[in-house]
Amino acid sequence: KEETGELKEFFSNGLYHLPKSRALVMDPVRVLNAFYTNFRVSPSMYYCRSFESISHGEKPVSESRRKRKRKRRPYALNERELAAEMRHQEARPFLLDAHKALLEEIDFMSILPSLKRNGCPTNGIESLSNAEQVTEPSFVELGHLWQAPYYEISLRFRDQSTPSEDFTGAEPIQYCKEVSMSLFNNLVSNWTDDDMKAQFLDNLYILPRKCRFHMSDLRQIHHLIPASSDDGFNLIVIDPPWENRNVHTKSVYPTLPNRYLLSLPVKKLAHSEGALVALWVTNREKLRVFVEKELLPAWGVNQETIFYWLKIKEDGSLLSDLDLIHHRPYECLVLGYTQGKGGNFCDQQKYTPLKGDQVVISIPGDHSRKPPIGNLLTNHVPGPLPARCLELFARELMAGWTSWGNEPLRFQHSRFFLSK
Ligand code: SAM
Repeated sequence: KEETGELKEFFSNGLYHLPKSRALVMDPVRVLNAFYTNFRVSPSMYYCRSFESISHGEKPVSESRRKRKRKRRPYALNERELAAEMRHQEARPFLLDAHKALLEEIDFMSILPSLKRNGCPTNGIESLSNAEQVTEPSFVELGHLWQAPYYEISLRFRDQSTPSEDFTGAEPIQYCKEVSMSLFNNLVSNWTDDDMKAQFLDNLYILPRKCRFHMSDLRQIHHLIPASSDDGFNLIVIDPPWENRNVHTKSVYPTLPNRYLLSLPVKKLAHSEGALVALWVTNREKLRVFVEKELLPAWGVNQETIFYWLKIKEDGSLLSDLDLIHHRPYECLVLGYTQGKGGNFCDQQKYTPLKGDQVVISIPGDHSRKPPIGNLLTNHVPGPLPARCLELFARELMAGWTSWGNEPLRFQHSRFFLSK
């Protein structure tokens, strides 16, 4: 079937703007692919989690859980739940509008189920590495060892005179340059305009062009503070490891008590002309109040608006019932500005103001993995362009960005990539 203009755009950049609504659908795989020259993100690896739940259907609810559920009805909301419900009612019309607009796009809906297979051979996907045979290191654990300062990463990059096909193919060693450096608590960068391969403990990682990362604990974050605030960041995306009761989250990554986040040096990381700060928050009311009343003021951030990330399954249906109190199918991105040197929170003459209540719809990837919204925000940053972008608590790298956290290489492992 012939592609419409909108569909063509989606196939090239992974973004589909839904007409008559403030929403867009994102295919994170396509968005991330733009950062690489010789590789592409493996759709089946990206979409591993959500697709499983779809193909096998909802997990059956055990009888004891059903009984517990029955006992709790009728259910009177407590004060906090009522406040959360009010927030939900504010968001609900935007989310419903966005979802309705998606369901009306018949052509687009028909391609949604194929995103996982996109561009891959139908009979078996050729992964870049034989990753099954390698034990993937846990950066979080290694970073705590006394040997951590001695771990090195080797960066292999193409000599400018090398033809590009030699880089992904047999890779004769004489074509490649290699440098080794400390992996932990060190600013590692791919300064080239090309992808880089990096080796660490027999594992291969792919670094997008012009990226930098600092793999360290919160105690070391001050190493990212620029000597002069004129060299600071004007877009800062933060996805903290919020504490919650979910045992699964605790087994995936360590969490941090809220009070530790108060000390995140957002003001010192920000550019002298101010920064747009984008903070991922969960729907827990206690957390939302903490963010508004304590965290943003401590960081010197003036809240401007909220974006919503609406999670769908591959058939376009919502991941869960929109009104399910403790399992909403959406998360929030709180957006605000730090003060620039003139004392203004934002000088809107100098950049496009943010439109509030936008909805980004996508099929979720791995646990807690957020859609790469960074490039949707770059038009709205104060200060110099191209924007100087920083992601805090990152688990992946992006071209042109600095990523910090205790495992920013996690999704850069070659098992998440395919050769182009
Ligand atoms: N934005 C990420 C993504 O889309 O995949 C998810 C980030 S996850 C919510 C939080 C991250 O913070 C995890 O990688 C976790 O290991 C990391 N983290 C937890 N405690 C940390 C600490 N003390 N210092 C640095 N990073 C930490």
